[in-house]
Amino acid sequence: MSASPTTTFDDNNTDTSTLTNPTLVLNCGSSSIKYALISDDNATRITGLAENLGLDTARIKHTTLNGEKLEISIPGGRHKLALQKILELLEQYHFIAVGHRVVHGGREYSEAVRVDEHVLDEVKRLKVLAPLHNPANALGIEAVQAIYPDMPQVVVFDTAFHQTMPPVAFRYPLPKALYEEHKIRRYGFHGTSHAYVSERATEITDASGTHGWLTAHLGNGCSATAVYDGKSLDTSMGLTPLEGLMMGTRSGDVDPSLHIHLKRQLDMSLEDIDTMLNKESGLLGISGLSNDLRTIEQAASEGHKDAELAIEMFCYRVGKYLASLSCALPELTGIVFTGGIGENSVTTRTRILEVMRHFGIKVDVDKNAKLVGGNEGSFHSSDSSLELWVIPTDEEGRIAQETREALNLV
Ligand code: AMP
Repeated sequence: MSASPTTTFDDNNTDTSTLTNPTLVLNCGSSSIKYALISDDNATRITGLAENLGLDTARIKHTTLNGEKLEISIPGGRHKLALQKILELLEQYHFIAVGHRVVHGGREYSEAVRVDEHVLDEVKRLKVLAPLHNPANALGIEAVQAIYPDMPQVVVFDTAFHQTMPPVAFRYPLPKALYEEHKIRRYGFHGTSHAYVSERATEITDASGTHGWLTAHLGNGCSATAVYDGKSLDTSMGLTPLEGLMMGTRSGDVDPSLHIHLKRQLDMSLEDIDTMLNKESGLLGISGLSNDLRTIEQAASEGHKDAELAIEMFCYRVGKYLASLSCALPELTGIVFTGGIGENSVTTRTRILEVMRHFGIKVDVDKNAKLVGGNEGSFHSSDSSLELWVIPTDEEGRIAQETREALNLV
């Protein structure tokens, strides 16, 4: 496939938008592939999702440039087949590069890098740190290589943004050899999202000087980061994405002795405990209903006690973490909320800030109420000690931008 300076087309005679020098962004998960074809000004996009891979219900949901929705069934189809179909759907738009979201870059990578044989080997080798994700990411790279051997590809690591954390934040208080010989340390995740929203907050705030932000990415996965002068200084996720905040199905922090206790008392295997902590805990575990906050909020409004406790615990744990992460920052400008919950749940934002009641934060209730459904804006009142922002995250846009930068296309 060759580069095309400008691809203008009339999609079903209803759209005349342009996709100029588009970059394809791929996010290959263990059973799904999210993709976005993004123009070089990040303004125009085609998006889609392949889901239920490996199952009879495997399918691709594709949204065309003019918003038309297509669904393509690929029963039993796995990553390779799904990627072939996705590339077929997008071929006509002449993309010039592919950027992959890769979950774990270990301590080797602090920025996006162009794929070569060594980088691909590293992505595969780092499966020891991300067994569910890195192999799927490697499959994505290889599938593109097989069809377009000359296509420039870049990997953007979820861990890279956190490589600026100092040892005081990234080391665990464990025997030194575990770090030196086995890379046991805190890495942090959701780096692309924390990088994007903190940079955007710095761009749109009126505050002068160097900015310190607490960024709260609250979605099905949740993490919080302390960012100062554009650098991550500490974050809530650790060696794996299980550490830190309570999430949709993940527990976040628990007593590290829980494993041995459950082994001794209930004879649970390590694998069963791991599954329980990753897939059956968090909002789902406490509410007993769902990992989806909308369902839980609805049940709580109808008097469901466990749903109410799930929300209260979630907010308490986020507020407590944000307060503790503030210790990493020389100065604190404000708090940025993002992710499905952070961008949409007005009451969750309010309750988290109530937990931080000693910080002198003042919420503008009307502004807060309007920040839903992808709106960006601030919601602190003029006498608040800290700024408060909702900034919808744009991981795909950021990956496309880093891909272009890594290839010197900007
Ligand atoms: P994400 O992983 O970023 O897509 O976020 C998923 C989470 O956002 C789920 O817990 C959803 O329930 C939550 N969410 C999305 N929209 C809303 C909403 N309008 N109100 C409350 N929670 C929402």
